[in-house]
Amino acid sequence: MLHRERVIPPPGVYPADEWNLIETKFSPKFAEMSETIFALSNGYLGMRGCFEEGAPVVNDGTYINGFYEEWPIVYGEEAYGYAQTGQTIVNVTDSRIIKLYVDDEPFYLPRAHLLKFDRRLNMKTGTLDREILWETPAGKHVLIKSRRLVSLEHRHLAAISYEVTVLNAQAPVVLSSEMTADHSHAARADFDPRNPAARQGRILQPRRHYFDEQRAVLCHGTERSKMILGCAIDHELVTDCPFSSKTKCREDTGQVVFMIDAEPGQSIHLTKYMAYHTSATAPPQEICERVERTLDRAVSHGLPELYSSQERYLERFWRTSDLQISGIEEVRGLRTTTEIQQAIRFNLFHVLQASARAEGTGVPAKGLTGHAYEGHYFWDTEIYLLPFLIYTSPGIAKNILMFRYNMLEQARARAKTLSLKGALYPWRTISGEEASADYAAGTAQYHINADIMYALRKYVHATGDVEFLDHYGAEMLIETARSWASLGFFSDRKGGKFCINGVTGPDEYNTVVNNNTYTNLMARENLHYAADVLRTIQKERPKVFQTLTHRTGLEISEVDTWQRAADNMYIAYDEQLGIYPQDDSFLSKRRWDFENTPPEKYPLLLNYHPLTIYRHQVIKQADIVLAMFLLEHEFSLEEKKRNFAYYDPLTTGDSSLSSCIQAIVAAEIGEFDTALTYARVALLMDLADVGGNVKDGVHIASMGGCWMVMAYGFAGLRDHGGTLAFRPRQTPGHAAKLGFNLRWRGSLLHVKIAWDSACYTLVEGNELTLRHEDEEVRLTREKPSDTRPITRPAAG
Ligand code: BGC
Repeated sequence: MLHRERVIPPPGVYPADEWNLIETKFSPKFAEMSETIFALSNGYLGMRGCFEEGAPVVNDGTYINGFYEEWPIVYGEEAYGYAQTGQTIVNVTDSRIIKLYVDDEPFYLPRAHLLKFDRRLNMKTGTLDREILWETPAGKHVLIKSRRLVSLEHRHLAAISYEVTVLNAQAPVVLSSEMTADHSHAARADFDPRNPAARQGRILQPRRHYFDEQRAVLCHGTERSKMILGCAIDHELVTDCPFSSKTKCREDTGQVVFMIDAEPGQSIHLTKYMAYHTSATAPPQEICERVERTLDRAVSHGLPELYSSQERYLERFWRTSDLQISGIEEVRGLRTTTEIQQAIRFNLFHVLQASARAEGTGVPAKGLTGHAYEGHYFWDTEIYLLPFLIYTSPGIAKNILMFRYNMLEQARARAKTLSLKGALYPWRTISGEEASADYAAGTAQYHINADIMYALRKYVHATGDVEFLDHYGAEMLIETARSWASLGFFSDRKGGKFCINGVTGPDEYNTVVNNNTYTNLMARENLHYAADVLRTIQKERPKVFQTLTHRTGLEISEVDTWQRAADNMYIAYDEQLGIYPQDDSFLSKRRWDFENTPPEKYPLLLNYHPLTIYRHQVIKQADIVLAMFLLEHEFSLEEKKRNFAYYDPLTTGDSSLSSCIQAIVAAEIGEFDTALTYARVALLMDLADVGGNVKDGVHIASMGGCWMVMAYGFAGLRDHGGTLAFRPRQTPGHAAKLGFNLRWRGSLLHVKIAWDSACYTLVEGNELTLRHEDEEVRLTREKPSDTRPITRPAAG
């Protein structure tokens, strides 16, 4: 249930537009939020949407995925096995700055007299565009057009086009293009454990700096994680006005200053290329060569080529990944189809930005738009992002799963530390080492092992990529199954059932509990899948099996144990309430006093000691409800209704991961009003700053969750067990239509859901079989399209 209502978008901040997110006036109040919303990223390099002019700025983050500094975690009282090394993504060299002076007057937005201000994130071109008309104190009209991009095609490259025209006068114009690695800003004073602690001292240590003509290169390293960062800028100035330039470079700063005698109406067009390379192994010299090569290529290809490659990339992305909605008049506060469409695209665009070129790394919980959660990777990726990516960009999904495979050695070591067999993935990490200092709400979330395997299974089913399963997936399955087998035990006190004690489920408001039902169900799934896959490989691909046993020391008796544990998994059921208890103790706790908790006390984690929270029936985020979505085949419709009715009022939604899941399950059980309310919250999580913390970065999991709300929630996609099935739910209104594509084993399927019918079209591929409600639908090249009526559930 929503215990706070903060979801009405601030009026006039982002007017409705299907492909753009637009700001028509500069508002200091929303400046920090806009820095997040207008952030550009390609999954490797991310730049917050701060202004080119370097000010005003609240948080000037530039991030490289996986570029972190580490530090020893200091505990007041330590115990064996606690995470030892904290990791924090580094705010790297800021290369965006282009300061503008006209008649030696700096252009400073908050004080400038603006005749026009228009800034837009264009989701088709993948650019951040801005047009400003500034009247200087001397009455000169200065038109500033800028366009920024972080290239999706060229992983290490970003560029800015900055065009200035003094319309009505002559004036000396100065453009000072800068880069700085000096981030000695004051730390914010607000208390929020989700943000990194302020660190003393400099993080980026200078290694090299030099310049050549209009190019400047800075190279830095981190002290403890021993990583190297190279950042370089290069320029091209095109104008008919006379100009000269000067370049300077120091350890932490680079600067290229252009001094131009502007003539009225003559444009001055500066192109700035920015390159970043990072490495944990290469020396500074080599990193400098790499950034220079990237710049050489960018300069020789030119800006128009960079624009078109960006557009082509996005054209390909939207062709498969777009989700179109039409005919909706209102979804609780979103007044038009255009607003809804904009919110959907904005969410999908940011998921792309967070993941596209995250090659060899994971996806941070905030993408590369902010420093909250320290740039760490969580289960958010596998459970919330991967469904969308698996069905629309399977190549990206594969990279992410591969990244988990590459962490397996560290996960094996971590399992040993925790006296487990097999492997235990870290709850939060960048390097692969566990970085969660709070074991109760962190390491104890063993479910991450099962979450990753759940995503693996979905990937294998949707793509048919058996090779990935054989070479990487099966090994992860063996090690995760081993971990469950050693974590749980057959308990006499529970009728010999397999119990898993001392864990934390997705709900971080109830920690270190026995038999968290979500965990037990997901572990069962993990064990079953591992047993099935290993037996199939043994039978059908003996050579692969041999390699696997050689690599892992697997004995077939282990597979029997997994099977036995799975078959006998303890899943409690409360007969009296007709629901699944969240864990062994949950139902015996006292209910949280919601009635006397004022809205400003949410999120509870910022206002109550954990022990106060832990002893109550109060839930941070969907837990049993999430299980009912992920493993929907395990619950009858009646059970789903009863569980939802019980748990929904206890769920605060203090985590942004909650609303999308509540929406999907509400849609399934026919609580359509509730589904729409939650869908709105998920859709607007960032655009309306539902949690009040968008300034610290977007909520990538919820953004991926929005796609799930549409595909699973409203279109009724169901994909358990390797079949593609649809049981479409009610759409919002008789004229509403929902359209999207899915990749399924090399084919591309278009799904269109209307009020009373669903139309399935084979767009690419030879043949595809799916289920619509209880019927089989076979699409072929000869008959690529099929329309079926939707049976509406009785109003609930
Ligand atoms: C949630 C976790 C999530 C993390 C990062 C926390 O608030 O409770 O489930 O993984 O945020 O998004």
